[in-house]
Amino acid sequence: MNCTSCKQGTLIEGLLEDCITVNTCNHCHGHWILIENYVKGKQQSPDLQNLNLKNTAETYFDVDDSKTALLCPISGRIMQKFRITHDSAHRLDYSASVGGVWLDSGEWEYLKAEGLAGSLNTILTNHWQKSVREDQARATFDELYRSKFGGESYNKIQEVRQWLEQHPCEDELKAFLMAQDPYSAER
Ligand SMILES: [Zn+2]
Repeated sequence: MNCTSCKQGTLIEGLLEDCITVNTCNHCHGHWILIENYVKGKQQSPDLQNLNLKNTAETYFDVDDSKTALLCPISGRIMQKFRITHDSAHRLDYSASVGGVWLDSGEWEYLKAEGLAGSLNTILTNHWQKSVREDQARATFDELYRSKFGGESYNKIQEVRQWLEQHPCEDELKAFLMAQDPYSAER
């Protein structure tokens, strides 16, 4: 099987973390993993259960993330890109028809450091991808408000909002705030 990422290497079968059957490129060192093998390896190895524990030690490694569309090494079709988290630029390339995922060199180590190496199959679900999009939207709004209001005012309005939301007179307080003149009977 030829590497569709660097187009120069061959994918050689081996073991990742001593339990997951993968095909690793002998040139760019990326991994091609069938989700079936990933799940099987995860079930067989108790060590892998611990992979979701976030590595708190500072880790440095080179990640070589492919920005362009990749072709599935088996079907030859364009693979889909899946975001890992909303604040990570990394994308996993997934071939849905084959059920295989491509990890660029260093991406497995990145997943481990982020405490997500035990969640590879979860990242590829609609549910995960939906929450990544929601987190992204939230972060975009947050940034927008912060730049529009200024940090100090934004922090203050957030506090007020939180206080309002848990106040038993929430509606009346809002009406008071919005009224032209809350001391007038006229509206
Ligand atoms: Zn390669």
